[in-house]
This record gives sequence, structure tokens and C-alpha cells, in this order.
Amino acid sequence: MKTKITTTSAKTTALKLPVMEAFYTIQGEGYFTGTPAYFIRTGGCDVGCVWCDVKDSWDAERWPEQTISEIVEAASAHPARTAVITGGEPMIHDMDILTLALKQEGFKTNIETSGTSPLTGHWDWICFSPKKFKKPLDEYYAKAHELKVVVYHKSDLQWAEKHADRMNSGAQLYLQPEWEKSEEMLPEILNYVKNNPHWKISLQTHKFMNIP
Ligand code: SF4
Repeated sequence: MKTKITTTSAKTTALKLPVMEAFYTIQGEGYFTGTPAYFIRTGGCDVGCVWCDVKDSWDAERWPEQTISEIVEAASAHPARTAVITGGEPMIHDMDILTLALKQEGFKTNIETSGTSPLTGHWDWICFSPKKFKKPLDEYYAKAHELKVVVYHKSDLQWAEKHADRMNSGAQLYLQPEWEKSEEMLPEILNYVKNNPHWKISLQTHKFMNIP
């Protein structure tokens, strides 16, 4: 269920989101790989990917709610000023106030989303990662800065191309092997990207570095 958010500043401290975890680390994937960032993983996801590696996130009610002020204060304790909102599927919640509050503290706001819920919030970077398990909404193809397709099976390469065809011309396009299938899929992706150079490869480098 969406968290109801109003834009009345007096109510900002009362606004809450379920937070599964929040941590300061290095972005391991996609365009900002290698960049320090504060990650906020919201609880709740209605997409249901069979290979999901954060299934614990699915039930939002399992995770304690934090006020926007608490979330932003914790983020501000670290030196980097990039916040990555991830999940779960963060866009099942209204992101307007959280993103405005983060921006007030000087953060760049990045999101990782499957694009299956209407876009809310004020974003510097939208990483759109469509999943086969729930159809994404049209607006993401026009608004996202990055398309990241997780490749679990060779046929996903053709599926990725269908999404790439619909993306805005400025978007960065990434193919990323699903972690458990990496050994099998990486050679396929390497070959595919060499022959289709509009794509780049994204690896889950945080897993190689043993960081969250
Ligand atoms: S969208 Fe993300 S969190 Fe949700 S099921 Fe898929 S991989 Fe897991």
C-alpha cells in the first residue's frame, strides 16, 4: 500500500517509510559503479522475481517505519552526497517528500526501480530495471536515464532489446548477468555486447568486493 504523503512541511517529520536497511557503501552496479553512496532500501515489493536476492524485502510490514527526518539525518552522517533509493520496489511508496528532503541536504537522488508503479519523487538519476514478472509502465521509457536488464537466460538478450527500442535516446543501456547465472551468462553477454555496441556490461562489483 502507498504511504500517503502530503507536501505540508509541518507534517514532514510525521511521514514514514518502511526501511529494511540503510547503509553507506560503494555503488556496485550500472552507470555509477565505484561511486560512494548512501543506500536506502525500502520494504515492500509486488513484482515477484523468481531469482530475487532480497526476498525478505517483499513484505513491507516486516520492516520498521522511519520518519523522513530520521532517514535523511542518518544519510547526512556520511560524507558522500549521493543517495540511492532501492528495494524491494521503492516506487510502491510516494517518494516526493523523501527526495525533496534529501535534496535540501545537498544529495543527488538516484533510484533503482522496476518501473511497475507510477513515478513519484524528484530524481537526478532513474535506473529502470524491467522485470519479466510484472509489466513496467510506459512513462519509464521516456524518463529513465539508465536501462539495466538482468540476464538470467540467453533469451533475455532479445527481451532486453525490446525494452532498449523504447528507451529515450539519451539513456545508458546495460546488460547485467544474474549473479547465480554469471558463469553461464557472462560469455553470452560479452559476445553480445561486442556485436551490439549500444550496450555496456554491468557487473555486481560489490559482490566481488564483499561489501553490501
Ligand atoms: S523487483 Fe527487485 S526486489 Fe522486487 S522481486 Fe524483483 S529483484 Fe526482488
